[in-house]
Amino acid sequence: MEEIRWLISASYFVAAILFIFGLKEMSSPTTARKGIIWAGVGMVLATAVTFLTPGESTLFMPVDNLILMVLAIAIGGSVAWISGKRVAMTDMPQMVAIYNGMGGGAAAGIAAIEFARGHMHGTMMFTLAALGALIGSVSFSGSIVAFAKLQGIMKKAFRLPTQNAVNIVLALLTLGLGIAIVWSGQEASAWLLLAFFLCALVLGVIVTLPIGGADMPVVISLFNAFTGLAVGFEGYVMGNPALIIAGIVVGAAGTLLTQLMAKAMNRPITNILFQPISGEAQAGGAMEGTLKEVSALDAATMMHYASKVIIIPGYGMAVAGAQHKVWEMTELLEEAGVDVRFAIHPVAGRMPGHMNVLLAEAGVPYDKIFDLEEINSDFNQADVALVIGANDVVNPVARSDKSSPIYGMPILNADHAANVIVVKRGQGAGYSGIENALFYKDNCHMLYGSAQKVIAEVIQNVKTMG
Ligand code: NDP
Repeated sequence: MEEIRWLISASYFVAAILFIFGLKEMSSPTTARKGIIWAGVGMVLATAVTFLTPGESTLFMPVDNLILMVLAIAIGGSVAWISGKRVAMTDMPQMVAIYNGMGGGAAAGIAAIEFARGHMHGTMMFTLAALGALIGSVSFSGSIVAFAKLQGIMKKAFRLPTQNAVNIVLALLTLGLGIAIVWSGQEASAWLLLAFFLCALVLGVIVTLPIGGADMPVVISLFNAFTGLAVGFEGYVMGNPALIIAGIVVGAAGTLLTQLMAKAMNRPITNILFQPISGEAQAGGAMEGTLKEVSALDAATMMHYASKVIIIPGYGMAVAGAQHKVWEMTELLEEAGVDVRFAIHPVAGRMPGHMNVLLAEAGVPYDKIFDLEEINSDFNQADVALVIGANDVVNPVARSDKSSPIYGMPILNADHAANVIVVKRGQGAGYSGIENALFYKDNCHMLYGSAQKVIAEVIQNVKTMG
């Protein structure tokens, strides 16, 4: 029995090292794929070794537990495998949201079982279990609302007239119930537990309902951090080091990502939670200027004879799957002596790193890809800024219009280039639903059509120029 316990602890330790190493590798696009595999191996090891956990009176865990575990792994594993294979890149945020929610729900579920079993001792144990239950439940129900919004199931943002007061009262009530559970210890009644979990679940829904638009990715990342914390707390309750370390790693990574995204959008977390933007389409002020259409031949000529072109990919490039064509066009332009670079906005597309992943998939070298801070001053010297399916991330109203839902978000300075070419299908708005002042500027030219088709036409024209 002692040897088995030692083997389990040693395996959890190795799994924890694999998680940390995997996360480290994920921090660079060149090693990210390897990082996922390392972390996956750690997870398989941690799961497999759990089967060796001794039961109360048997050498191995009771058989009925084994059956339940195998069943859960078979069902969960199959659903995850199939949905992971099928999910479109553009639907990744809702997939992340729902998986997040499941993690939070699982942590809350562990706490519920531990409260019900009555095996816990000590204020510390009860406090951590209650904290994990609270955070996990909020993350679970909040993530489900986030999923419903991103999936288009829930179309309208919903805000109560006294939203912040309701949030605060409900948060205090839930916290009070949690304290009562810790206070009562093993004497906590089923009604008290039920009221606590119910309030925590409603809190997650109420906090998330009014949030929308560009704030959504930050909220998902915040729930990710919550889930990590909840899992870490429940890991302590269960005495499981792998859960503790995995939870801390996810919690820390989620917190950092949340901070980075909030900074990138110039929205403090408190504003996102307490002064959310709805994300519903706005009428938008009347734009000055006209939309000027150009042909693929005009666009090809402008870029072929340019010295410097900066490409700004956005959500539309992802939808069209145009990244391979974009790279083919880039290579042709470079052969013609044009300096071509890619400018990536931190929230371009529909998930953090969305554009980096697509460009990497198409084979674009990393030294051609620049973040907003690195490249924004270069637009002044660019002959052409080519905007491919991006909209909100180049909208100058973010700088000037205080009433705009994206006001304050740093944008890529495409309008500072000598010429701007925008590839999009028609008059469709971006994620925030507002008009884009860039499209009406004198130096801006619209190249209409789906990105892949349009870039293919540009390529044909560049080829004829030799
Ligand atoms: P936007 O959503 O602002 O704009 C995308 C544009 O692409 C649309 O205006 C659309 O116009 C065009 N488009 C759609 N399909 C095609 C196509 N097949 N070919 C060419 N163009 C197409 O994208 P951005 O990347 O600029 O901005 C991202 C937005 O999403 C931000 O508001 C961000 O906050 C938000 N967001 C970001 C997340 C993240 O983590 N990155 C997650 C969730 C939201 P048309 O219909 O006329 O073609």
